[in-house]
Amino acid sequence: MTERREIPFARPSLTDVDREAVLCVLGGPILAHGPEATAFEDEFALAIGGGSAVSVSSCMAALHVASLWFGIGPGDEVILPAQTHVAAAHAVEVVGARPVFVDCDPATGNVTAERIAGAIGPRTKAISLVHYAGIPCDMPEIARLASERGLRVIEDCALALGARYDGQHVGLFGDVGCFSFYPVKHITTAEGGMLVTRHADAKPALGRLRAFGYDLGHTERAVPGAYDVIALGLNYRMSELHAALGRSQLRRLPEFLDRRRRNYELLRGLLDGHAGLRVIHDDDPRATSSHYCLILLIESDPTRRDAVVGRLRAVGVGTSVYYPRPVPLMEYYERRYGHRADAFPAASLISTGSIALPTGPHVTEDDVRYIAAQVHAAIRAEVA
Ligand SMILES: *Cc1c(COP(=O)(O)O)cnc(C)c1O
Repeated sequence: MTERREIPFARPSLTDVDREAVLCVLGGPILAHGPEATAFEDEFALAIGGGSAVSVSSCMAALHVASLWFGIGPGDEVILPAQTHVAAAHAVEVVGARPVFVDCDPATGNVTAERIAGAIGPRTKAISLVHYAGIPCDMPEIARLASERGLRVIEDCALALGARYDGQHVGLFGDVGCFSFYPVKHITTAEGGMLVTRHADAKPALGRLRAFGYDLGHTERAVPGAYDVIALGLNYRMSELHAALGRSQLRRLPEFLDRRRRNYELLRGLLDGHAGLRVIHDDDPRATSSHYCLILLIESDPTRRDAVVGRLRAVGVGTSVYYPRPVPLMEYYERRYGHRADAFPAASLISTGSIALPTGPHVTEDDVRYIAAQVHAAIRAEVA
């Protein structure tokens, strides 16, 4: 019998170099709107190969700023995936617009241009999509549809740092890309996010939405403390401590991505197609995933998911669920818009019948073999 292991679903990878970077900022005089955040923005844009980057306090903040930037408001509709994090829907709801949900492709977990096209109406202002678990959507198709219909595109890239389509990083196909540095993501700043845009001239406007609508940044003021307010804006800035950690983490991104890819590929080979199991995946050769985690669907009997998770927990295999319920069926949205329980069959199947398995840099090759063996044992025990 193999020895018992303890493998959390996610664990941030922090080194003394990361800690030193934060301490260094703490030893100096500048804790906010300083050079670390600016450098992090430049280095992030370089890492993804283009665009302008604006640091913010979370991915939710980035999504909210996107809604404000596009002037989305009452009377407008935004098309959203049913299978996503609630942040994307809240960013529409909080500005008074209406989210219109579409189901995902059951193979990839992503929305498709075809499904989006079917939901476009006279009030549609934007398409907000997610690269599900780091699997890129078919962005050339979706971008073409959006430009034909005059719609904005918001890409939620919270799990997709490193994901590309035709070699181009996600977040640069649409009008904005929103990233998260929450502890379980590819890199962390504890809390934090980044907004990227391919519109080269947008940075000042995005910067104002993030910082009170000030006309001048901290270093641009002729008289310290003297500024005017030329727009409505929030305070969504990233502090220097968070930015310093982000810069340090970003340097290790290639290593993190490589470890996730190798773990994912090994785990997929050990599970996909075996014993009624299917891995949510996109075989499109033009799509490169960020391999955030591996989503395993218990196709033979999705109703056994919770029991399988219980068995995995008992043997030290950490798991998660992406996402626990289609957003339109979350209580708030269900109460507000009254969607039918069977309106999103693919998203519902993934929500109730899938398990997210860890692929992060804390997982070793032996851990992957242990996870696969424990999944097979749990399935044998639970699925007739
Ligand atoms: C984590 C996550 C978010 C929220 O990110 P925060 O930085 O915590 O606001 C949004 N969208 C997706 C797809 C996520 O996975």
